[in-house]
Amino acid sequence: MRGTVTLLSLATSGLAFQFPFKVPFLHTDSAAASSSPRVAVIGAGAGGSSAAFWVSKAKQRHGLDIEVDVYEAGSYVGGRSTVVYPYNDPDKYAAVELGGSIFVDANRNMHRAAQEFNLSITDFKGEDGTMGIWDGEKVRFQTTGYGWLDMIKGGLRYGIPSPKRTDTIVSEMVSKFRTLYTPDSPRWDTIESLSEAFGWTELTSTTVNDYLLSHGVLSRTWIDEVIEGATRVNYGQDSTAIHALEGLVSMAAQGASGIVGGNYQIFEQFIEHSNATLFLDTPVTEISKKGSRWSVRTADGSKDYTSVILAAPFHSSGITVEDSIASQIPEQPYLHLHVTLLSTSSPGLNPTYIGYKAGQNTPNFLLTTSANVRTGGKTPEFNSVSYHGKISDSEWVVKIFSKEKISDEWLNDMFLGKVGWVLRKEWDAYPELPPTTTFPPVKLAEGLYYVNAFEPFISTMETETIAARNIVDLMLNEQHNVGICAKTLSESEERQQVAQQDDSFVLGWDC
Ligand SMILES: Cc1cc2nc3c(=O)[nH]c(=O)nc-3n(C[C@H](O)[C@H](O)[C@H](O)COP(=O)(O)OP(=O)(O)OC[C@H]3O[C@@H](n4cnc5c(N)ncnc54)[C@H](O)[C@@H]3O)c2cc1C
Repeated sequence: MRGTVTLLSLATSGLAFQFPFKVPFLHTDSAAASSSPRVAVIGAGAGGSSAAFWVSKAKQRHGLDIEVDVYEAGSYVGGRSTVVYPYNDPDKYAAVELGGSIFVDANRNMHRAAQEFNLSITDFKGEDGTMGIWDGEKVRFQTTGYGWLDMIKGGLRYGIPSPKRTDTIVSEMVSKFRTLYTPDSPRWDTIESLSEAFGWTELTSTTVNDYLLSHGVLSRTWIDEVIEGATRVNYGQDSTAIHALEGLVSMAAQGASGIVGGNYQIFEQFIEHSNATLFLDTPVTEISKKGSRWSVRTADGSKDYTSVILAAPFHSSGITVEDSIASQIPEQPYLHLHVTLLSTSSPGLNPTYIGYKAGQNTPNFLLTTSANVRTGGKTPEFNSVSYHGKISDSEWVVKIFSKEKISDEWLNDMFLGKVGWVLRKEWDAYPELPPTTTFPPVKLAEGLYYVNAFEPFISTMETETIAARNIVDLMLNEQHNVGICAKTLSESEERQQVAQQDDSFVLGWDC
């Protein structure tokens, strides 16, 4: 989960670690007749890399003989989590996140992975910040950077009850979320059943705006500005459009962290520790049934598998499957996001652009609201603009999220003609998340599973690792009669006892 504090997230350009090899392995259909269980994972982002890792955990624990191949269309591990370097110069500059930037305290797989793989975590505490809310015409609210003063300013504008009530609602959601790491975690074969088990059906079937208004958050200004600022920076969607579960996830920013050098390193380590065979630059073009096995086709040929785990958004994967499978996966529009990273020697935004007097200090982190648009006003030309610290004595790196391309002219105007390096990237970043009670199937057919079914429910790096854990557990149970952890009921009871005595217990890691 990210949060309002994406003001904290870093930004840059540069390629993630690239595996130096592409194993020239692929056999034709006839050569792939080995009878040992084989799993294909398609996609090496958070979902696919962790799926391979979870299978390897089960293999170690139960001595299973399962071969895992991971197919990745791109040239790097990490998918929507990758970094770049200012001026494309990794020797001189630190990595800046281009995609998934932040995880939070409640994200225990990401934290645990960082710890196990000896990766350093930054909590962004060194980054100073003032935050403003831009409505396309004026800055509606700005913090000062002084905690006590901002409490008073915030209290005067939004009152005390609405922020407090929001905090309670978010904490209740996070507290349920945390059960996903305990032995009592639900196992699910549909997202609907998980949603019901958590009592979250109302959350996914209502916009966050309506949910909060009907649950005691009565300040419209608070919802319009702070809640919407968070949903727009995190998901590019308004509070009147996004479902309440994802809206609350946007507000759950406690302990925002990232991996020094890039979050993608967690996913690389998942693959490395899994001992799976990784095929980079190898897009899968077709998955088809072949007797009791699945045939996975790439440009190099095809290979048969006992099970296939699809860990990429299906509709943009370019994979052909038979109609009876494709028709089960509802069309899922993704939000097309423009990320503009730049360096500037201007310590702040152009004050006159945002309606301030020349020379006046501007916010380091400008969130946006569509409140103005709802009353016929101007649309903000970006979702967020955030300063991410210095890259040299007199140069800062800035990240802009927007729905449309940000022109050079605009950058020059906003940064007072002091723009250095610029990098633009377009992503299909996250699903559009309107209220719903139905989700794509987790299991598409016997032995064929879909990790990204989770994304229209919650779309984050962490939740993709949780979705993958659940699917691997389901697959192992169905195909091999074991789970990631327990083999027998008594083992499972033993785990529960261990977990009850140990706060640091994380399901799947500690069993
Ligand atoms: C700008 C931006 C900011 C974000 N900020 C955050 C954040 O702060 N915190 C957070 O938790 N999340 C954030 N997210 C979301 C987060 O990045 C995603 O939810 C998460 O990374 C998705 O992981 P995934 O493995 O499911 O999918 P992906 O990362 O998309 O991985 C899927 C992989 O499958 C590969 N693939 C696709 N088709 C094929 C094929 N046919 N054959 C083989 N491989 C294929 C792709 O190349 C890709 O590598 C952000 C995303 C973006 C774009």
